[in-house]
Parts: sequence; structure tokens; C-alpha cells
Amino acid sequence: MPTLKPPGLKVIAIDGPAGSGKSTVARAVAAKLGMPYLDTGAMYRAVAFSAIRRGIDPEDAATVAKLAREMELEVADRVMVDDVDATIEIRSPEVTRAVSVVAVNPEVRKELVRRQREWAEREGSGVIEGRDIGTVVFPEAPVKVYMTASDEERAQRRSQELLDMHYDEVAADIARRDHIDSTREHAPLAVAPDAVVVDTTASTVEEVVELVLTLAAKAGLG
Ligand code: C5P
Repeated sequence: MPTLKPPGLKVIAIDGPAGSGKSTVARAVAAKLGMPYLDTGAMYRAVAFSAIRRGIDPEDAATVAKLAREMELEVADRVMVDDVDATIEIRSPEVTRAVSVVAVNPEVRKELVRRQREWAEREGSGVIEGRDIGTVVFPEAPVKVYMTASDEERAQRRSQELLDMHYDEVAADIARRDHIDSTREHAPLAVAPDAVVVDTTASTVEEVVELVLTLAAKAGLG
């Protein structure tokens, strides 16, 4: 009798910097394949939001780590933090300023990675986006995409979303976060050796979605 192998991990990992288009593409791919979607950036933002709300300094690593371990967090269509709907606030400039500092904290990362793996196990499959999904969280994911775009294009896209911020401010914020995210010691933003790198500067969302769907089909997903 052939031994049955446990079913493989059905994760599509999408990483990349801010404004690379990963959220739009990840959501569309998830909808097309009928798979659940997880925005891990929203989880780091939720920790930053909760720290600010409680008057905790985001640099206070031990207290923020404790908060990350103890908080109730649900990231779905709405982002719920200890029964508070934080869907809008996690995108505020204040949270955006604090989030990369929170994400440097190795204890926060450990806890959120644990929650991300637990989520995937519970759901059975998923399209998961972030900065370290293909490198650290799910190194065995059968589909890994690293999305990028030129600095100008990324800043342009974000300033169209954030109507209350000027292009220069948005560009400076993205450059600052890129720097912190890619130079931090634990799980920096990096391309996994087996990821497919997609430069979306001149592509339409539909083209990139098609490409990811093709990769997923080749990997036997969808
Ligand atoms: O994707 P988004 O821009 O919402 O992520 C916010 C921040 O969360 C990033 O700038 C990064 O510091 C952090 N992050 C991370 N690891 C992830 C997802 C996000 O460090 N997997």
C-alpha cells in the first residue's frame, strides 16, 4: 500500500515593499481561487495601534511584546483589536509612523508569525501577503511572488490612496519604511531565493493577477 503523504501547504506567499501592488493582487487572486486572504501588515499595524491607544511607547520592546502576546486580534474584512474596530485607524499616519519600529521587535515578530501559521493551519490554505512570508513564515510555500515597482510609481500609488498626504511626504515615508524594513536584523524585507520577482511598474493589476494564477495552477493550487 502506498503511504499517503500529508497534503502540502497550500499557501501563496506574496511579499514586497509598500506600494508594490501586493494587497490588490493578493485580494484578487484569493477571490479568484476562493481562498482566504491574510494581510500580515495589518497585524503589525494592529500592534502599533494598540500600543498608541494605551499610551505605550512603540520603542518599549518588552511592553509592546507583552501587548502583542495578550491582545485579541482578528484580521479579516474588518480588523478587530480587543473588540475595537481598528480597520480605519490602522492606516492612519500615526500608526504608519510607528509600525516599522514595532516590526523590528523580535518578540512581536515571533508572536505574529505564530498567529500567522496558526491561521494557515486553521484555514487549510491562503493567499498571504507581507514582507517575510516566503522567507521566514512559510519558506515551504509552493508559490512565492516578490512584487516590486519603481520608487516613484510606489509613492504615486500611495499618494492617490492617501488623499490627505502630499506626494513628497508619502515618498519620504515609504523610503524610511523601506530602509527600516530591509535593514532590520530579524526577518528583513528580502527576496526568497525561489520567489518569482515581478516588477509591476508598467503592468496592469490584471496582468499580475494572471501571472500569479498561472504560477498557482502550475503548483497545483486552484
Ligand atoms: O504592508 P503594510 O505596509 O501595511 O505593512 C506595514 C509594516 O508592517 C511594514 O512597513 C513592515 O514594517 C511591517 N511588516 C512586517 N512584516 C510583514 C508585514 C508587515 O514587518 N510580514
